[in-house]
Amino acid sequence: MSMASSERPSDFIRDIIRTDVERGESDGRVHTRFPPEPNGYLHLGHAKAICVNFGIAEEFGGLCNLRMDDTDPTKERWEYVEAQKRDVRWLGFDWEDRLFFASDYFQQLYEWAVALIKVGKAYVDDLGPEEIREYRGDFTTPGRESPYRNRSVEENLDLFERMRAGEFEAGERVLRAKIDLSASNMNLRDPVMYRILYETHYKQGDDWCIYPTYDWTHGQSDSIEGITHSLCSLEFEDHRPLYDWYLDQLVKHRQTDHRPRQIEFARLFLSHTVLSKRKLLELVEGGYVDGWDDPRMPTISGIRRRGYPPDAIRRFCDEIGLAKADSLIDMDLLEHCVRQELNRSASRVFGVMDPLRVVIDNYPEGKVETFEIEENPEDPECGTRRVPFSQVLYIERDDFREAPPKKFFRLAPGREVRLKSAYLVTCERVVKDADGNVAELHCSYDPATKGGEAPDGRRVRGTLHWVSAEHALDVELRLYDRLFIKEDMGDIPEDGQDGPRDYKDYLNPESLTVVTAKVEPSVEGARPGDRYQFFRKAYVCVDPDSTPDQLVFNQTVPLRSTWDKIVERMNRGAAG
Ligand code: ATP
Ligand code: MG
Repeated sequence: MSMASSERPSDFIRDIIRTDVERGESDGRVHTRFPPEPNGYLHLGHAKAICVNFGIAEEFGGLCNLRMDDTDPTKERWEYVEAQKRDVRWLGFDWEDRLFFASDYFQQLYEWAVALIKVGKAYVDDLGPEEIREYRGDFTTPGRESPYRNRSVEENLDLFERMRAGEFEAGERVLRAKIDLSASNMNLRDPVMYRILYETHYKQGDDWCIYPTYDWTHGQSDSIEGITHSLCSLEFEDHRPLYDWYLDQLVKHRQTDHRPRQIEFARLFLSHTVLSKRKLLELVEGGYVDGWDDPRMPTISGIRRRGYPPDAIRRFCDEIGLAKADSLIDMDLLEHCVRQELNRSASRVFGVMDPLRVVIDNYPEGKVETFEIEENPEDPECGTRRVPFSQVLYIERDDFREAPPKKFFRLAPGREVRLKSAYLVTCERVVKDADGNVAELHCSYDPATKGGEAPDGRRVRGTLHWVSAEHALDVELRLYDRLFIKEDMGDIPEDGQDGPRDYKDYLNPESLTVVTAKVEPSVEGARPGDRYQFFRKAYVCVDPDSTPDQLVFNQTVPLRSTWDKIVERMNRGAAG
């Protein structure tokens, strides 16, 4: 059995688990689970929980289950179950034959509830939801007992059975745990265990009209599955005493003998986005984005479509580590991980994102040469591709400056640059349109510099990518920016100048820009999901919207970070 990998620094959860294993708790087993509710698509916050649960199990030679925590028939769907399975698998994790559903435990949970009623630890309450809330008090006011709290065991058993049989209206009665109405932890003030709901469950159909609450389900499901360590996010810390109470009762009354250990870790908060299925669903349903897999979404399906590789997500989760306090992680860190991964794995091609026409006046009209260029200098195993060159080319508009500032080494009037792997060319003349914009450049080339090297060793500092106009493919390129303009979306002011703010007020109206790029012909026939580096510019990924006649690319990330751009802009400003 392998112990935690020595490359990754340990953290408080791995320390606890290692100690438990050494002490022989649960016979030294490590068994975790990832328990999403199938009420939406998984997002990057879930990716963190997935990496933690599956990752730790793997490191300790243990197991990790995938469990649908499906206790709310009003919001759950098969579509979401399938999407969640796909996403976990894509991240590179395998639950083998251990896909479970909390709803499959409904019968067991029902029997355990009956057991609690029998020992006087649960009762049927006729108060409505409003009254229950009012009787429960608040942080400063102790709760009051419901007038139904002291019903006899017989009466409770009878009423609970009739609740299950569908004899009452929705909301007419609930089953509550009998704990302590003066507890300072509100979760212990006789929490609701069952409510009546006449809703069809996507998996259990109409078998049930009473549904267990999440709190009554969660810990017991872990116990049923023999989970040793229930790793969950911080908001469940206050619920732990309740989970412990339920398990104490069940162990004491010999209903189960397995108690998982719950450990909480900080949720992931990412800058410029929201990580909440409820909000993401609202963005989808309100048409603010183009579906759950819109490449601007922080969903796993969204970033997959955008071109983020799964290894980059796992690397990112390692990078942020596990902490006990919430913090906001900058999206730049995630993009950094994506770039590192793609730098290693993406083939380079020439793609001109903002084309400027260049005519090489002394290059024979109609002549075509092909240059062989390596696909990925970072990958010694990679091959080469052939790129055609001809008299009329496109280069990137911002690779030319009529009045170049200091430290601008690219093309300018009278200046010589290298067209990568082809020739050295010199800008002879600038053609402008009626508005005074640069429309076209006329250049000359030096036939002695074939391959891009000058035989006399003269120094040329700029190296540009290029595409042959007659051979280039026009592709649709979708450029993405942050989905929200506000960095900390968890910190929305309740009192804006004109009333409370909504997170949607911060949607970035310019989060999507579509341009037509000119790309070398080697990408013809590329398939959705194929990833490339547009040399010097960006990592891109072929979108499923592509058709045989029209390739569509998503910009995954620009090649350089915003940080690099800021530094460059400062230099340019200082020089100009
Ligand atoms: P959401 O608000 O997006 O629905 P949730 O916590 O209600 O999130 P679940 O489907 O219940 O969603 O989550 C499954 C697991 O993922 C839980 O164990 C939860 O702790 C974890 N999780 C959810 N969001 C995050 C996050 N932002 N960071 C870390 N873990 C998360
Ligand atoms: Mg939830």
